[in-house]
Amino acid sequence: SGMRENLSYEQFGVAVRELAQTIADDGYRPDVVLSIARGGVFVAGGLAYALDCKNIHLVNVEFYTGVGTTLEMPVMLAPVPNAIDFTDKKVLIADDVADTGKTLKLVRDFCLDAVAEVRSAVIYEKAQSLVKCEYVWKRTDEWINFPWSVLPPVTPSGEAPAVNREAL
Ligand code: 5GP
Repeated sequence: SGMRENLSYEQFGVAVRELAQTIADDGYRPDVVLSIARGGVFVAGGLAYALDCKNIHLVNVEFYTGVGTTLEMPVMLAPVPNAIDFTDKKVLIADDVADTGKTLKLVRDFCLDAVAEVRSAVIYEKAQSLVKCEYVWKRTDEWINFPWSVLPPVTPSGEAPAVNREAL
């Protein structure tokens, strides 16, 4: 399964503060942080606190089914946020990683018509990403183990453990 980039919760805490510092130093003050669930929720929460932004929205996108295995195209799951809510707003899209970049492109294109300005922030960006994010903490081309998804879901004690497809 090749080399892995391993991110711990402790390193994530450092990463999200450093990412926020880069955004603040750049003078971008978002009105809304739009998180891409589920991985982007952690990033969005950290960035929204660090940037003193009280307005978080969420969009659910499904794409990956395992390590390197995807649906043909990412799809937004219901309920899709109302783009009207972002009219004249400065939006910061937050996600854990831009890999192919298809997920971020879907969400960015969804915003582009309605909003005043949209920029994207990710912990990791891979070289192949078709979206070049304005704010990136680290570049890698390895599969990343994130602290929130590296372990399988918990099961009630005494039951057989679930299999984590991401760890196979
Ligand atoms: P993309 O659309 O850019 O290919 O992928 C976006 C989503 O796929 C990410 O938000 C993440 O949930 C998942 N993903 C892509 N690459 C990786 C990876 O290296 N590690 C993990 N854990 N998830 C990934």
